[in-house]
Amino acid sequence: MNRMYRLAMLLTVMLLPAALQAQQTPVLPALKQQAVAEVDSLQTLTQQMVDEIFSFSELGFQEFETSRYVTGILEKNGFHVERGIAGIPTAWVATYGSGKPVIAFITDMDCIPRASQKPGVAYHDPMIDGAPGHGEGHNSGMAVNVTAALVLKKLMDKNHLTGTIRLLPGVAEEILGSKAFYVRAGLFNDVDLVLGAHVDSEFSTSYNTGNGEWSGLVSVQYFFHGKAAHAASAPWQGRSALDAVSLMNAGWEFRREHLRLQQRSHYIVLNGGDQPNVVPSEAAAWYYFRELDYPHIKELYELGNTMAQAATMMTGTTVDHKLVGSAWPPFFNKVIAEVQQKNMDAVGMPKWSEADQTLAKALQKEIGAKMEGLKEKIEPLSEPVKNPAGGGSDDVGDISWNVPMVYLMYPANIPNLPGHSWQNAVAMATPIAHKGSTAGAKVQAMTALDFLLQPELVKQAWDYFRSVQTKEVHYETFLAPEDKPAIEMNKEKMEKFAPQLRKFYYDPVKYKTYLEQLGIQYPTVKAQP
Ligand SMILES: [Zn+2]
Repeated sequence: MNRMYRLAMLLTVMLLPAALQAQQTPVLPALKQQAVAEVDSLQTLTQQMVDEIFSFSELGFQEFETSRYVTGILEKNGFHVERGIAGIPTAWVATYGSGKPVIAFITDMDCIPRASQKPGVAYHDPMIDGAPGHGEGHNSGMAVNVTAALVLKKLMDKNHLTGTIRLLPGVAEEILGSKAFYVRAGLFNDVDLVLGAHVDSEFSTSYNTGNGEWSGLVSVQYFFHGKAAHAASAPWQGRSALDAVSLMNAGWEFRREHLRLQQRSHYIVLNGGDQPNVVPSEAAAWYYFRELDYPHIKELYELGNTMAQAATMMTGTTVDHKLVGSAWPPFFNKVIAEVQQKNMDAVGMPKWSEADQTLAKALQKEIGAKMEGLKEKIEPLSEPVKNPAGGGSDDVGDISWNVPMVYLMYPANIPNLPGHSWQNAVAMATPIAHKGSTAGAKVQAMTALDFLLQPELVKQAWDYFRSVQTKEVHYETFLAPEDKPAIEMNKEKMEKFAPQLRKFYYDPVKYKTYLEQLGIQYPTVKAQP
């Protein structure tokens, strides 16, 4: 007995550390709680990222300062960074951890032409006249994903969790310029799931075609070549490239009546010649062809090419075209969306202050939009729309057809704004954007933890991807083998404005917030709404 007792005691003592350790390994809910607390403890960094990237205001393919800044933070925190990926100088991939699952985070970082706006001011007041600005709010996305990634890294280290965290930027999202090239470069070949984040006025996620307000597209530039001549003394010797542009546009307008209602197409004249007394030898138009699925988008693209060709036949000119962007309509994963929704419900909406609501309502009033202030409730996960009507596009669509993906919409902006304009920049370096980004980071971190700790969920996401999403539809790229990322785009515009923008770069060492640096009283409104 005595011997048995001693043996039992010995065994207990030997096994005790293991038992204790098992008890100390925090289970999922506890880890999520820690993640929330850690994201809260990084609020200053989150705010600095939102403000700093807002102040850089870089257009697509020219996100050099933003990339330098963000990769700097990631490298300093132990992430391995590879730059210039997929042939795009401002693209990079940052990695931490090892083994499965591989969870990729993606979010955009480019801004909008002519959207320069003083933050916190509820009427049009550009920082620099005509300059680019964050008139969509892409400046907040990196704050969301980087904050989440830093927190995940800390929790993974502390709890010896296996898995790989990867971050990528959406370069030139506003011109749908990078992600099809990422896919072509194989950047998602070993990725298990993708957690995208995009600024919104609501807190929501979706699956399948969601609210149906997504289209896919190709974005194509047509360059017409004619013959220069004196427009008055020898016009018969010239051939006008501008005539071809005009005829192509007119042709498209007539044909538009006979296209499916689901199509959306728009164009601008990129180059209309130099001066009226010179027959334009060079002219160019830029088209977006949007539709709901690959075959219809391809059909529009081919029709555009035919119209361009026809215009050259009428004008004695020639044409060549360049694809500058493409996007599949996004399709999101139900399994991940359901997990994400639960985390969103747990996090809740940010607590808006009186000042936040005043800014929102004043801006809504100023532009004649519905004056409802900021959203107070989380959107429920709803059934996908049966007959999508189409709308905007996002090149995350291409990723979503290659790996299970969801797109978190986090509440960092004011509702009822027109999009792609100064209005959408007003809130983007204010407490509205700061709080919304913190809320978004919490959901990103929590959702990643769900999949890091429950491998069966990764399997379920892939089951949905294989047996529902890609059962009949298979991804094909819009890119021809010779298509290259349009990395020269926006170069001249950025070079023009960079010296002026530089004077307004945010200095977080000197100023607590960008509003403080700019000396803007928050909120600045015309009159109390
Ligand atoms: Zn966007």
